[in-house]
Amino acid sequence: MSTTSTLTGTVLRPGDPGFDTERRGFQAARAHRPDLVVVPATAAEVQAAVRHARDRDLDLAVQSSGHGLATPLDGGLLISTRRMRAVTVDPATRRARVEAGATWADVVAAASPHGLAPLSGSSPGVGVVGYLLGGGFGLLGRTFGFAADRVRGVEGVAPSGEAVELDRLPADGTVVTAVEIELVGLAEVWGGALAVEVTPAVLDGWATWSADLPEEVTTGISLVPFGDDPALPPPFRGRHIGMITIAATVDAAEIVRPLRELGPVVHERLGWIPAAESHTIHHDPTEPEPYAGDARLLRTLDRDGLRTIPALTGPSAPVPSVVEVRRLGGAYGRGRTVPAAFREATHLLRAVTVLDGPDEQAARVLHEDLFRPFTADDLGRAWGFCYGLARASN
Ligand SMILES: Cc1cc2nc3c(=O)[nH]c(=O)nc-3n(C[C@H](O)[C@H](O)[C@H](O)COP(=O)(O)OP(=O)(O)OC[C@H]3O[C@@H](n4cnc5c(N)ncnc54)[C@H](O)[C@@H]3O)c2cc1C
Repeated sequence: MSTTSTLTGTVLRPGDPGFDTERRGFQAARAHRPDLVVVPATAAEVQAAVRHARDRDLDLAVQSSGHGLATPLDGGLLISTRRMRAVTVDPATRRARVEAGATWADVVAAASPHGLAPLSGSSPGVGVVGYLLGGGFGLLGRTFGFAADRVRGVEGVAPSGEAVELDRLPADGTVVTAVEIELVGLAEVWGGALAVEVTPAVLDGWATWSADLPEEVTTGISLVPFGDDPALPPPFRGRHIGMITIAATVDAAEIVRPLRELGPVVHERLGWIPAAESHTIHHDPTEPEPYAGDARLLRTLDRDGLRTIPALTGPSAPVPSVVEVRRLGGAYGRGRTVPAAFREATHLLRAVTVLDGPDEQAARVLHEDLFRPFTADDLGRAWGFCYGLARASN
């Protein structure tokens, strides 16, 4: 063991002010428990941290927002990238250089004054690098494809401690310090959400409607079990609501018209919105919460399987859970840097259970029950959405 490497940047140990803030992230069910947290401000400080861990054979992890925490560190060194958030946009090349700790909100804020937008997803608080490493299923994914395919350059520190420049995302434990991504020209998005009470027929109707959509339109349906909470508006209270989300680069008013025939509409907000506000389509949570999640890529969407979901996950189910089905296809099918399963999938089926009552084991059992009818068409996990699962767990 060599002891030549010296840590630089902010270094925190258990008990230091800020230690807990840096080790904790959006996932409130668990947190890293490192011996040491390094909060670098520069790539050189990241490099010093990687070398320090290498020389002492320490376990090493990286955290930005903590939305995607899988296996928490127990000891070792955590690099918290949150202070590396600079975003520089070049309107001439339509590219942005994004430091490792930036969230999509940071990129949207820098890009939108130029009429440009990144291929961000449902939540502006998600970290750019973690999202890209999962492929990047964006709000307009059927139109523009996977966000990972828009990566034009990567700066990082290899496990050996060497600074590296790559033309695509690493898969080998390299710590990314910055990415260069391509933006798209986009000032407005046509979209929003339309909500109906969940029934098996509604799911079937959405699946039929979305089968032949033009690729200018991206859609999903989120089945949300609302508790019997007096603070909720009456149409939602204690009910199982299907939020059909729409994001389009064209006026889709005519295209969405048949959705209103699916059942009584309990909420509707559709129309042109500034691209910088497109995250409002999904209403994702903004504050940390404890959750478990799993997600599968499906070759085709089994209709019988689809009809089993409401009874398993609704407000009166033993483990209420939010299930989302996203229609893939379109430009997703032309993915270049993602695994074949991502390109071939027609749908993403995901479940998120908030652990505010159910324990994690009960949530995992429910997720397996939920996915079982889809086994024949299962192309594998979409890792970005598998919260709390170590990658090795198939
Ligand atoms: C509410 C919510 C909404 C979401 N919506 C979408 C969506 O619409 N589309 C989509 O595709 N995904 C979505 N996701 C999934 C999300 O993209 C992944 O969970 C992603 O891993 C989060 O990245 P992070 O940086 O925020 O999280 P973190 O937990 O900080 O990072 C996740 C992992 O990424 C790796 N990582 C992070 N930074 C670096 C780095 N600098 N170098 C090397 N590795 C690094 C580490 O392995 C880390 O454990 C969503 C997740 C949540 C919780």
